[in-house]
Amino acid sequence: ENEKPLNFIEKIIEEDLASGKVTSVQTRFPPEPNGYLHIGHAKSIVLNFGLAEKYNGQCNLRFDDTNPEKEEIEYVDSIKQDVEWLGYKWNGDVHFTSDYFDQLYDWAVTLIKEGKAYVCDLNQEEMREYRGNLKEAGKNSPYRDRSVEENLDLFERMRDGEFEDGKRSLRVKIDMAHPNMQMRDPVIYRIKNMEHHQTGDKWHIYPSYDYAHGQGDAIEGVTHSVCTLEFVEHRPLYEWFIENLPVPSEPHQYEFSRLNVNYSVTSKRKLKQLVDENIVKGWDDPRMPTISGMRRRGFTAKSIRDFVESTGVTKVDGVVDVSQLEFSVREDLNNVAPRAMCVMNPLKVTLWNVPEDMTEYLTAPLHPQNEEMGTRTLIFDREIYIDKADFQEEGNKKYKRLVIGKRVRLRNAYVIEADETVKDANGEIIEVRARIIENTLGNNPEDGIKPKGVIHWVSALQNVDCEVRIYDRLFNDIAPDAGGKDFMEGLNPSSLEVLTGCKGEISLMDPKADVPYQFEREGYFFLDSDSVIDAHEENEKLIFNKTIGLRDTWEN
Ligand code: ATP
Ligand code: MG
Ligand code: MG
Repeated sequence: ENEKPLNFIEKIIEEDLASGKVTSVQTRFPPEPNGYLHIGHAKSIVLNFGLAEKYNGQCNLRFDDTNPEKEEIEYVDSIKQDVEWLGYKWNGDVHFTSDYFDQLYDWAVTLIKEGKAYVCDLNQEEMREYRGNLKEAGKNSPYRDRSVEENLDLFERMRDGEFEDGKRSLRVKIDMAHPNMQMRDPVIYRIKNMEHHQTGDKWHIYPSYDYAHGQGDAIEGVTHSVCTLEFVEHRPLYEWFIENLPVPSEPHQYEFSRLNVNYSVTSKRKLKQLVDENIVKGWDDPRMPTISGMRRRGFTAKSIRDFVESTGVTKVDGVVDVSQLEFSVREDLNNVAPRAMCVMNPLKVTLWNVPEDMTEYLTAPLHPQNEEMGTRTLIFDREIYIDKADFQEEGNKKYKRLVIGKRVRLRNAYVIEADETVKDANGEIIEVRARIIENTLGNNPEDGIKPKGVIHWVSALQNVDCEVRIYDRLFNDIAPDAGGKDFMEGLNPSSLEVLTGCKGEISLMDPKADVPYQFEREGYFFLDSDSVIDAHEENEKLIFNKTIGLRDTWEN
């Protein structure tokens, strides 16, 4: 059914299924709950859940919660919500690496008993010295030859909270001269006298990522453990544990390149800094490259999935142009967004040849290319608003909007011609007086003088008041965190513009919280979660986020 060429992981899976190495596919998405998910995680989600779907397997959601210092239940909840919103269902209940802490502890005891692990008293700095470097072999720790009995005793006391943080660690005995630094007696347990969001105060020691990850995979029966390229060097260690422990299954690790997007940062730590320093209004600020931020802004789940798929699965790190993401967003929104009209900067136009007490109900399509979406009702009155940008006293050839003495078509309504302006004491135009040309609903004027263009409008007497938030890129710098730069220096100081007193057509009276709209000629808009919808309209406050413009107008 899928005509796309297979990516390298799909090839491996198909070979493994064909050879009988595996009989079914089990993957997992393993976020650490230390922040909200971002666009990079979407890639891992689409890949892991996508592989499971494609090969009729299962994908687990596992919280890799080995570091209580930075983890919070708020992040657990947001991650679940984001995965679901992206359109995926994990296999069974969610898993936590902390579910396996007892088993991991027992296996560590096994390693000690077999003389493969030891308690080390070196502090971090000493450990670094002993480790050596790429050119130089390391030296054995002076604690490497402790007896099994002493190691068992000390490890138990580490677990029971007898020692201060960092005083001791448990390390596996591999090879201090190994060319791969990861194999030089890596630490597998650290002392942290700290509560954990899942296990409370049960533990005073926590396993390292490297020790916990592969074993979690093995316990869950993961067949293909897919991670990003920075773990290539860790693979021999991953395999060492699988070989040296009595694990119930034999998972394999495969690495693909991270997704990076220009004009952006994709690191939870950096995104957290933007939140903590109030640069943005939370993790779900519509300017954030987080899943929750993009959702709030009006990006659809499909557009994010499409984008991520368009970037391919490779083994070469690269940076994707953010316009590629925006392309996917526009493409999906163009198909699904009902149309409406909203005037951002209202200028009153009085149509003096329309009777004062006349209200006409006009019908307009919700989607010009998709009749099935149905129609909406527009109110047409003697007084309307158009956008200030759509009127000039004197135009020029290029200006295809309203000009004194010239004609323009009101979108979904009549052709009008402007006669004169009304100005305030400062000479600013506060009103345009114009007239409608009879019989122009769906027809060109009978006198043959055609309108120069089409503009949007709303009734000035019956409309919906709203606020519109317009976003620019959060960073002006194309690569905010490249080469060790301080990414905060690359921030765009004016990434948010708030327009109040915008006027929407009445079909926006009860906007749907989950419907992206196209405001004709302006772009795509999505009701912000700060909005207050009130049946009695007393406290009502409608706020729309501009998701994206109709076309790419960004200039580098
Ligand atoms: P961060 O630096 O943002 O915290 P991380 O890799 O530490 O990223 P995890 O929570 O450990 O975040 O990630 C869960 C999964 O998502 C991992 O398998 C990880 O490799 C993958 N992932 C994270 N960032 C990206 C990215 N930019 N592109 C592709 N996959 C990613
Ligand atoms: Mg991680
Ligand atoms: Mg991380």
